[in-house]
Amino acid sequence: MKILLVDDSRTIRNIQKNVLAQLGFKDVVEAADGVEALKMIGESKPDMALVDWNMPNMDGITLVRKIRETDKQMPLIMVTTEAEKRRVIEAIQAGVNNYVVKPFTAETLGEKINATLAKAGMAPTAAAAPG
Ligand SMILES: [Mg+2]
Repeated sequence: MKILLVDDSRTIRNIQKNVLAQLGFKDVVEAADGVEALKMIGESKPDMALVDWNMPNMDGITLVRKIRETDKQMPLIMVTTEAEKRRVIEAIQAGVNNYVVKPFTAETLGEKINATLAKAGMAPTAAAAPG
């Protein structure tokens, strides 16, 4: 299970990486904006992505729309400071599978990732499974 982290903040990406490592997800690739993310998707073929909304060059909502032009399957979770309901609706209409508002706790992020994977029919990691 390879996860792509897309956020223009290296600090946020590091926090996400730590949370993912705790959950047993060790295979992580990173991008600082939508342009880099599309390149990483082509090169690294990640299984799912966490996507920030506000980024330079190409923002997250544009990235999600571009991914969904060709890939309806890859689980996409928007992780953003944008908390307004109309934003959440816009993101869901664009094709995200889940939505996490920053600042997030490790627990919330973990729950959303596992719920998203389960709904997509993808197995969560052994480390994240109960027992
Ligand atoms: Mg940002």
